[in-house]
This record gives sequence, C-alpha cells and structure tokens, in this order.
Amino acid sequence: MLSVENTKQWLTLFTALLIENKAYLSELDTAIGDGDHGNNMARGATALNEVLESKNPEDIPSLLKLIGMTLVSKVGGASGPLYGSAFISMAKVSQENTDLSVLLQAGLDGIQKRGNATAGEKTMVDEWIPIIQAVKEKKLTIELIEESVQKTKNMKATKGRASYLGDRSIGHIDPGAMSSSYLFKTMIEAGVYDE
Ligand code: ADP
Ligand code: MG
Repeated sequence: MLSVENTKQWLTLFTALLIENKAYLSELDTAIGDGDHGNNMARGATALNEVLESKNPEDIPSLLKLIGMTLVSKVGGASGPLYGSAFISMAKVSQENTDLSVLLQAGLDGIQKRGNATAGEKTMVDEWIPIIQAVKEKKLTIELIEESVQKTKNMKATKGRASYLGDRSIGHIDPGAMSSSYLFKTMIEAGVYDE
C-alpha cells in the first residue's frame, strides 16, 4: 500500500540505484542506442533528490505528480517523457484509488499512450507488463523482476532508437527495461509492495 512516506522512500532508493548504475545503463544503451540512458536517468535522479528535499508534497497525488513533472523536464531522451507520463498518469488515478496494481496499470497506460509500444518490442513496456501481472496476483519477486529484464535480450527492437538496428538489436538487454527493474526492486524494498 502506498503512503507519502514509503513512496518517498521508494524514490530515494530508486534514485540511489540509478546513480550507482549510471555507467552500466549507458553501457547497455551504447550497444543498441546512443549510450545516454544512464546519464539521462542519473540526471533525473539528482533532480528528483533535490525536489524531494526542497518541496514537501503532503499527499500521494501531489507527490506522484511532482515526480512525473521532474522526470519529464530533467531526464530528456525518449525515456524522460515515458517515465514522466507514467508518474503523471499514476498521480491522476491516485486521487481515486491507491491500490498499487491500479496505479501501476495507469502508469503503463501512460507509457503506452505516449510511446505506442506493445509487448515484445524490446522496451521498458516488456518489464512493466509481467510485473503488473504479478502485483495483481500478489506474486511479485526479485527473481521475476530480473528474469523479465533478461527476456528482453532475445527480442528484436521495433520501437525506439534500438529499432534502427533491426536484427542486430537481438542479444542485448534493453536499457529502459533495466532501469524499470530498479524501480520495481526498490518498490519491494521500500515496502510499497506488500503481499
Ligand atoms: P533515447 O532513446 O532517446 O536515447 P534513452 O536512452 O534515455 O532515450 O531511453 C531508451 C529507452 O527508452 C529504451 O531502452 C526503451 O526501454 C525506452 N523506449 C524507447 N522508445 C520507447 C517506446 N516507444 N515505448 C516504450 N519505451 C521506449
Ligand atoms: Mg539513449
């Protein structure tokens, strides 16, 4: 269950993982993109840490909206607007419902509305879909989060920059799926997901 406190904790853990893995995420993006995913996300992470310290949103919708707006304005690349849309959609839905699977589903809808990717196109969507399903069934595990990222390896990219490579995109993990895996791991760690 989300609270203002554990959502802040979630984001703090997420930004720490992004900063820690900046070089690795960019390395993944070098193989099938332009090598900036780690830098993009780390820039967003730093901005998020600043904003979470300076502003003090007191309810879940304002907190999620602040996160989304910060990601849209600071991350850049394709992933900024995608992650931003996810949090802004979650913010909207959270005015009515704070059930985690409902929120994450709204987040995925936001990503798909913006980026038009469906399952199997080797994007962050391939990480979000199985994780939401598992949250709905109360079966989310770290193993599933990791396995789902690995499954993007054998996919051929048909959306985003990696799609320019065609078949040559096969054999590499999708960087956005990897950064999304950090989002979901820290969601467990912060106790936002509880069985
Ligand atoms: P850019 O591709 O503009 O350099 P990033 O490198 O920050 O942006 O982000 C790349 C990631 O964005 C990809 O690994 C993929 O997961 C995600 N992505 C790109 N296009 C889409 C899309 N249309 N829908 C969902 N995710 C996408
Ligand atoms: Mg890139």
